[in-house]
Amino acid sequence: MKKCLYNGKLILEDRVLEGKALIFSETIEAIVDEIEIQGRTDLEKIDARGSYVSSGFIDIHIHGYAGHDVMEGQVEKLKIISESIPANGVTSFLATTMTMDIKDIKQALQVVRQVRSEGSLGAEVLGAHMEGPFINPAYKGAQNKKYIISPNMDLVKEFQDVIRLITIAPEIEGAKEFIQEVKERTDIVLSMGHTNATFEEAVEAVQQGISHTTHLFNAMTGLHHRKPGVVGAALSTDVTCELIADTIHVHKGLYPFLLKVKGLDKMILVTDCMAAGGMEEGKYELGGQPVFVKDGQAKLEDGTLAGSVLKLNEGLKNIHTYTGMDLEALVRLASYNPATVLGIQDKKGSLAVGKDADITIFDENVTIYMTIGKGKVLYEKH
Ligand SMILES: [Zn+2]
Repeated sequence: MKKCLYNGKLILEDRVLEGKALIFSETIEAIVDEIEIQGRTDLEKIDARGSYVSSGFIDIHIHGYAGHDVMEGQVEKLKIISESIPANGVTSFLATTMTMDIKDIKQALQVVRQVRSEGSLGAEVLGAHMEGPFINPAYKGAQNKKYIISPNMDLVKEFQDVIRLITIAPEIEGAKEFIQEVKERTDIVLSMGHTNATFEEAVEAVQQGISHTTHLFNAMTGLHHRKPGVVGAALSTDVTCELIADTIHVHKGLYPFLLKVKGLDKMILVTDCMAAGGMEEGKYELGGQPVFVKDGQAKLEDGTLAGSVLKLNEGLKNIHTYTGMDLEALVRLASYNPATVLGIQDKKGSLAVGKDADITIFDENVTIYMTIGKGKVLYEKH
């Protein structure tokens, strides 16, 4: 039976509608006046109770959740992650790998391939974000230095159907040739991250085809007026930028500045969440290294930030709280913008007829009431 959502504030790409009902099956079929659904018995009706109704959130940078990590390389574990994150409004995501032994990376990518073909009962696995191993040891962050290697096209070719995004340090040896080959042969998105590039090197990489920035400010050269670095290049070109809006990775005082400089179309909220997401604080693992989670911060033993325990809806709430901008406008940072990064905005990212029925219902505190993926209820708050 088709479903129908009513009594909500429908956040479309360019406006907010009230008094309308959203009719959907696996895809969105129609947006009609509420009066038109009265008395219809062929529809399963869902009352949004005056809440916001937006396109489902898309997390393009997440390593783990609910005690599990993509790098465990197990189908069941990836499914647990996928089934847990709809509680945060997420309807699709990129399973994100770490700099580890190439065998482990291949195993994780193989699992992504399998879950994609089998499907899961949770958020849709759109593919993989390969974060490393082609990065700069000088800005490894919580990635394991031991496994950093030169860019390797063979790995990419073998998993071209699965990899959607690669984080690479554009200044390392072999990166230029690699970027050129990836752009010529595939539609994989390239992102600069874990990088020691200068402003000039980063701008050149953008001209060559890098179009995205992995967690802006974190694990890259900073912004200095005489050495603008990767941050300077990201802010002054039109690349899209990830932001971990947990108020820990980037000071909240910069949120309004970032939105002003980059505009509402170029910022993407990500979590960079690791296995401890949604769990009690304590000792966990990230990329084979012990991580200690305390006071909402995940750190390696030496104090390096090691991913986050951020929930995507909390990131949205934070950016709303600290910029004072309307939620209706900010929702795109977690839905439409990540869809455009991946070039899938014809199917996902906004509520529009013909697109996948990926839907998130939430209140003004971004508390999630219901999450729907391709027309199926994935999460409901009780
Ligand atoms: Zn990460």
